[in-house]
Amino acid sequence: MAIDPSTLPDLVRDPVRDPPCLPQLRQRYAELGAEFHSTHAPQGLPQPRLRLVSDDAARLLGLRAPDDDTDAREAWARMFSGNQAAAEGGAISTVYAGHQFGNWAGQLGDGRAHLLGEAMSRDPAQSLGHAWWEVQLKGAGPTPYSRRGDGRAVLRSSIREFLCSEAMWHLGIPTTRALCLVDSDLPVRRETLETAAVVTRLCPSFVRFGHFEHFSYSGRHDSLRRLVDYTVARLHPELADAANPALELLREVARATGSLIARWQCVGFVHGVMNTDNMSVLGWTIDYGPFGFMDAFDPGYTPNTTDAHGRYAWARQPGVARWNLLALAQALLPLIGDEQAARDAVEEFAESFMVAMRDGMQAKLGLGEPRDDDPDLVQDWLDLLADCRADWTLSHRLLAQVVASPAGQLPPGLSAQFESRPRRLQDWLERLRLRLHELDAAQRAQRADSMLRANPCYVLRHHLAQHAISQARQGDFSAALRLHRVLCDPWREQPGCEDLAAPAPPDAGPPVLSCSS
Ligand code: AMP
Ligand code: MG
Repeated sequence: MAIDPSTLPDLVRDPVRDPPCLPQLRQRYAELGAEFHSTHAPQGLPQPRLRLVSDDAARLLGLRAPDDDTDAREAWARMFSGNQAAAEGGAISTVYAGHQFGNWAGQLGDGRAHLLGEAMSRDPAQSLGHAWWEVQLKGAGPTPYSRRGDGRAVLRSSIREFLCSEAMWHLGIPTTRALCLVDSDLPVRRETLETAAVVTRLCPSFVRFGHFEHFSYSGRHDSLRRLVDYTVARLHPELADAANPALELLREVARATGSLIARWQCVGFVHGVMNTDNMSVLGWTIDYGPFGFMDAFDPGYTPNTTDAHGRYAWARQPGVARWNLLALAQALLPLIGDEQAARDAVEEFAESFMVAMRDGMQAKLGLGEPRDDDPDLVQDWLDLLADCRADWTLSHRLLAQVVASPAGQLPPGLSAQFESRPRRLQDWLERLRLRLHELDAAQRAQRADSMLRANPCYVLRHHLAQHAISQARQGDFSAALRLHRVLCDPWREQPGCEDLAAPAPPDAGPPVLSCSS
């Protein structure tokens, strides 16, 4: 969907607004009716401090990041802690349901999220064709859907969400954006006593699979239809005249989800909690909880300690995404009316995933156009990586050097990852050399260069996030700021940042996290 410039008159007249005023917010989701949301003021935070800002995400909304301007920082802190909305009212929380770990969990909802409204995108380069973006506070206090929760998010998980959202965006992976992080001394009890923070997230829509499940399984099919019509009008207006909009929507979600999961697999990202309430109808990454980027490659890896059976492990993400799409299909069936058609629509996922995964791995290994034997070459590489527990990010990154100069010495960093199987590494690299033997020197250089744009140098490694968090807990955000800056340019080696590209120290062990956040 392209932005129609005639719908953006303000962009021409007023390209950048000063904080704190957000561009006019409209509250379209609320127009769906009282069944879909509740309107109430957030609690906000006592003495909020603006800690982290994404300049890019600010530009998306036409906002200028406040930098060192004290007044502007205070205004941002007031607005993005929820304190301004607390005084003015007007935020909403939405109701949804979901399947968690394969079981029906019934009604859930935004237990700690407040939607301030929708703002018009002011930066076509970042809008991905979406003219309106919802602005949502996470952690600004309880809502009618908080159940036993306190409506809060702790600093630790908020830093992780802020850094990972922006890192994913810069890796080219569709995701909710993080505009800023505000914190406070407000104590919050988790396993230990921690402090509260609020992350402001941006997304064209926060509708999840679970929103449809909520109305379907409670038998409210008129409301289900209203939600489908809203979602189509809002995100896929081109489908509005389709004979079966619910079916076409399902097809779109399946396709987008397929390409999303392939991108996760290719960067070694494990979401950790792929419940249907954490699956976006856009097919974008949402809800950064116990996620992890793999260091040592282990297909069975999940960072989530509550997931004892590895339901959401790296290798299972594609299968689980399909399971979730079947749950969405089931929820939409009263509107779709044809079970086989719904199943066929879900199978678009497999096609989209396999194409994106194949293309992703071809690019990562520098193979160019697929050939018959490539799937074997890729699979043997993955088996070798797994057997050696080689570092996912670094191993792929260093392969570009082998492609650039096949007769040259192996990069020591690469051999080190395969210490336990040096012979197998040599054999596999020989097959890669043979596969690429037709390339001349210039073509090799070009291929190696394109590999550097398929294999990031920097991802949000767990030990780096932990370091930034432990400093931030002492009030020092410099490590978080540095990490944010580097993750905004993940493809290019940045001088002085070698420590951020290195694998986790051997004693670090695989990252593990609980759901508590
Ligand atoms: P999650 O596993 O983080 O996706 O959360 C599942 C459900 O629990 C969602 O409805 C959340 O809004 C809700 N939730 C999680 N943490 C809290 C909290 N601290 N307070 C209130 N609700 C929460
Ligand atoms: Mg969630």
